[in-house]
Amino acid sequence: MDAFSCGIDVSNFEVISCGNTSVKHLLYADDILVFGKASISNADMLNEALSIFADHSGLKIDKLCSKFLFHGSVAAKKLHLVSWKKTSTPKCCGGLGLPSINSLQFAHGVSFLWRYYNFDTIVGDWLRAKYSSPYKPLLVRASKFWKFISSTASKVKGDLAFHVSSINCNLSMLWDPWCAGFAVSELSQGHLLNNYTVKEFISDGRWSFSNWSAFPLLNRITYVPILNGPIHAVTWIGSSNPVFKTFYMKFYSDLETVHWYKFVWHKNTALRHSAYVWLTLLDGLKTADILAKRNIVINPVCPLCRKEAESIVHCFFQCAHTFAVISSLIPLFRNFLLPPTLLQLFDFIDGNRRLHNFEKEFCYFVICCTVYYLWRDRNTLRFTASKNTVQDSIRRIIHAIKVKTFNWKRIELLKVAFPSCF
Ligand SMILES: [Zn+2]
Repeated sequence: MDAFSCGIDVSNFEVISCGNTSVKHLLYADDILVFGKASISNADMLNEALSIFADHSGLKIDKLCSKFLFHGSVAAKKLHLVSWKKTSTPKCCGGLGLPSINSLQFAHGVSFLWRYYNFDTIVGDWLRAKYSSPYKPLLVRASKFWKFISSTASKVKGDLAFHVSSINCNLSMLWDPWCAGFAVSELSQGHLLNNYTVKEFISDGRWSFSNWSAFPLLNRITYVPILNGPIHAVTWIGSSNPVFKTFYMKFYSDLETVHWYKFVWHKNTALRHSAYVWLTLLDGLKTADILAKRNIVINPVCPLCRKEAESIVHCFFQCAHTFAVISSLIPLFRNFLLPPTLLQLFDFIDGNRRLHNFEKEFCYFVICCTVYYLWRDRNTLRFTASKNTVQDSIRRIIHAIKVKTFNWKRIELLKVAFPSCF
């Protein structure tokens, strides 16, 4: 990083200046933060400095992460079927759980608000002196950061409960919504209170309005309890101890929870199995019918059974080959009168009262493992001249199950309950 730091120093990278001070970059151990004007020429300068550094050091920049995730390469152009927006939602909402930049920014904003209200910080004091409250209407000249904090505060207003404390209550008298969820400014035209904090109206643990006896909201305000001692001015409704994840999940609170996520991301999940099941449930596998919709024509016949048209629903598990495999591993599935879909298999296990939870978890694992290996078999059959019988598929899956489960705590019980899987 020292070499890169020197590279930036000798380049024409345009710095950020304030008075006599100019800042180009901040170097700390192996990390470097670069500050500069957001311009095309500056981006070119930075790119050039990075390229020179890469040529000399052999260290390349890891860019285009999403492309890497989908394609395994930053250079290859390939088709991906699940949108990045869908991918970057929490697992319980049907995504892969990768956080989006917007969600992280939002969670950082709420985190900042949390510290602003609940802890004595210099930056909090300074912002309070400058802007009074995030709930005060924005000044035109307010900084971008404050505008962001203010918009974040309005988004989480319903999730925050404000409390008045007898000691050093720094809440804004007029703008913070401490009066049973409302701000005094919403209840009355009390703009004379503009720059006051709540603590200025509290004396010896009681409300004190000696100079404001004609104030119209006195009854309503004095009804707000003053809590003793140093307490958090703000609490999060629904969690006594909110953490960054609480704020992050709030960003996605408008999204519906998908019931199947617990089948995919269960306790004993193997990442590669679950990733393929996830793709299956979101129509993300490149079967003949899905490719045909994008004008990519391949042989439409399912390579596993060589009888019917290939689609995701057919492959899992309406295909004679795949259903023979899964029902051989878990004979319970022979109860289906018609070939089931993947979700029906999961729901069947989920609703089966005779199975213990650890047995259900095992079944989810077996289904996920089966989907993964059957998809591999399908690809082998489609792209090579090899042959594959139901028994071949079953043998490979049983081997994978044995390798994964040999050290599980209840393995002996599982062997008795599901002998065909071992
Ligand atoms: Zn088939």
